Amino acid sequence: MKLADFTTVRLGGPARAFVRAETEDELTDAVRKADAAGERVLILGGGSNLVVSDEGFDGTVVQVATRGVSRDGGPGALTVAAGEDWDAVVARSVAEGLAGLECLSGIPGLTGATPIQNVGAYGQEVAETITAVRVYDRVTGDVHQIPNERCDFGYRTSRFRGAGRFVVLSVTFRLAVQVLSAPVRYAELAATLGVPVGGQVESAEARAAVIELRQRKGMVIDPADPDTRSVGSFFVNPVLDAPALAAVEAAARARSGPQARVPHFEVAGSGEGLVKVPAAWLIEQAGFGKGYNPGDGARISAKHTLALVNAGTASTAALLALAREIRDGVRDAFGVSLAPEPVLVGVTL
Ligand SMILES: Cc1cc2nc3c(=O)[nH]c(=O)nc-3n(C[C@H](O)[C@H](O)[C@H](O)COP(=O)(O)OP(=O)(O)OC[C@H]3O[C@@H](n4cnc5c(N)ncnc54)[C@H](O)[C@@H]3O)c2cc1C
Repeated sequence: MKLADFTTVRLGGPARAFVRAETEDELTDAVRKADAAGERVLILGGGSNLVVSDEGFDGTVVQVATRGVSRDGGPGALTVAAGEDWDAVVARSVAEGLAGLECLSGIPGLTGATPIQNVGAYGQEVAETITAVRVYDRVTGDVHQIPNERCDFGYRTSRFRGAGRFVVLSVTFRLAVQVLSAPVRYAELAATLGVPVGGQVESAEARAAVIELRQRKGMVIDPADPDTRSVGSFFVNPVLDAPALAAVEAAARARSGPQARVPHFEVAGSGEGLVKVPAAWLIEQAGFGKGYNPGDGARISAKHTLALVNAGTASTAALLALAREIRDGVRDAFGVSLAPEPVLVGVTL
């Protein structure tokens, strides 16, 4: 069976073995057995952050299909099995009068993957509401809870990303028991909702606005829309220190004249003057606009510069060739090396 059938970008060759795990025991057993046999293991959620090689995966793919949501643990507590669909969890939290996840509406994939790269959007990230992650530890063979402060959450990263040691079994969130959303921090969302940054609306209203904004950008999966056949953003926004930002500003002035301005946002709490520069801006300025199409099946989404899409006939090799062309173009123009956001399996950029 081809992994292309299990990834949102519809790419990836066959897996040598494939196990679907519907209970926690099936999940831990499958991983334990494969580890004992010295097999390579790929934990598969919704496949929305995975770029798998055309040759496929020479090992065992374990698909997480565990279910269950619990409100035990006091007001605002929500414990969710790894295999639960993420957007359904967000919808439920909003419907039940819990705030803190509403801006993470419309993100594909499963709940167990959300701590891996500290999923975030529109001013919220799961690190703000996760209290603990329950894991199977492949080194010790134990199941235990890792509290938030030991998850090493950062911008699109955590201790789980890339390490492979832990299989996430469930995630516990602590949400605010209120009909109003958390304060809206993202300027575009605040403007859409007609509130100042920091204002609040009903969570259901925030959720609806986020989904609408995301749909306009091709960031909600729609089988009828090829612009959504992607892994979402292909590159993370680079975080720059003051000298690196100054170098980008100088390069921008050299390219576009003395009036050129480089958009950037302070990285909250960095305390070191670090800023994030939108990767989409760098890519556009380097000459790769929306819809850019080198012609071998992979192109830039017509709706969002950061999404690289499989127009229907792409291969993983073609997608990566496009990603390299963009990365090199941005490096030549601005001296910034863009890093990929998805997990690359059997391939490198
Ligand atoms: C259209 C679109 C929009 C997106 N928008 C956003 C966005 O706004 N913000 C954002 O942060 N991301 C976004 N993403 C990326 C992606 O949806 C998230 O990273 C999501 O959390 C991935 O979940 P998944 O279940 O599909 O994980 P997968 O793609 O299946 O796996 C991703 C990684 O997590 C590992 N993994 C998955 N489940 C487990 C588990 N239970 N235990 C251990 N490891 C596990 C996998 O092995 C792999 O390394 C978007 C993707 C798409 C396609």
